Amino acid sequence: MQNEISEKLKGQRASKNRDEVISLLQKQSAPIAVDDIYENIKQFNNKISLSTVYRIIEKLVNLNIVHKVTTLDDNKALYEIVKDSHTHHHYMICVKCKKMIPIDDCPVKELEKSIADKTGFNITGHKFELYGECKNCAQKHS
Ligand SMILES: [Zn+2]
Ligand SMILES: [Zn+2]
Repeated sequence: MQNEISEKLKGQRASKNRDEVISLLQKQSAPIAVDDIYENIKQFNNKISLSTVYRIIEKLVNLNIVHKVTTLDDNKALYEIVKDSHTHHHYMICVKCKKMIPIDDCPVKELEKSIADKTGFNITGHKFELYGECKNCAQKHS
C-alpha cells in the first residue's frame, strides 16, 4: 500500500475488507461505481456485502483516500483513489457510452492561481469536466 494511504489510515482499525477495496481501486484506470467494486470483491470474498462496501467507501472519502467523481448522471456516483494530494485527474466524459477519459494535465491550475491572487480567495479545490463524444462514438455518425 502507498505510504500516503497508510499515513491517512493511521489510527483506523485494521480491516481486511477495507484493504481489499483500496487495492481494487488502485488497479482501476478509470473511476468505478460502488456496485462494480462490490461485484469484483465478491468473486474472492463472499462474506462482503454491498452495504459494507458503501460504508467503506464513505469512510475512505472522509479520510481523503478516495474521491467522488461527478458525472452527468448524478444517480451513479463513481469513485477513484486519490493518487497523491498534489496531482489529480480531470476527465472527458462521453455522453453516448459514458466512457471517462483522463486528461493528463490540470487545465485549471494557472487560472486558479491567478483568480486566487486577484481575489484573495483561498481556493482549496475545483472541478473541471468536459462532455462530448469520444472518438468511437463520434465516428459512428459519419
Ligand atoms: Zn463514447
Ligand atoms: Zn485540476
